[in-house]
Amino acid sequence: MAYYDELTQTLNQRTFISRAEQIIAQCIKNQEHLSFILFDIDHFKNFNDTYGHDTGDRILQDLTQRIRQFLGSTNLIGRYGGDEFALLLYGMDKNETEKYLEQIMGLVAEADIPGVSEKYTISMGVINLIPNKHTELDSLYAFSDKALYQAKHNQRNCICFGEIMVEQ
Ligand code: GH3
Ligand code: MG
Repeated sequence: MAYYDELTQTLNQRTFISRAEQIIAQCIKNQEHLSFILFDIDHFKNFNDTYGHDTGDRILQDLTQRIRQFLGSTNLIGRYGGDEFALLLYGMDKNETEKYLEQIMGLVAEADIPGVSEKYTISMGVINLIPNKHTELDSLYAFSDKALYQAKHNQRNCICFGEIMVEQ
């Protein structure tokens, strides 16, 4: 119970971080690709304002249920707060990550919330890399947040890849 966010049944931030640290360590050891993705609902505040907070909650549940069903048990999804979530995927290079995330975008596009006359969409900021001993979760977060900001700045409802700058 203490591991999950009650509303969305995704990992809470603390648990997501500790499991993510383990996966990162594993990827460093195996020299495997890793993707850290931050995503959030576009103009979510408008949905709350127009349809009410309960409907907003149902949108959060619909979104996370779709993604949880799609993810294998090894990939992680966690709620960072509000309408912001993180995904950690591994064993996929940039192209494979992009295809995988496009499938998620497709599932979200199929959503139809009772009583809501418009589609909700999400934006994603992605960092893909083979981590090394300098790789910190905090900087993966910071650089994917930058990419998410770019996605919001573009036209939203899109996936934006960012680069991670690390001092070696
Ligand atoms: P953007 O496209 O830039 O992401 O716009 P936005 O409206 O989604 O962004 P903003 O951060 O302004 O709004 C997020 C909203 O999410 C504000 C807050 O009231 C709402 N929110 C946060 N947590 C919950 C929740 O658990 N349930 C509901 N219904 N709303 C929530
Ligand atoms: Mg939002």
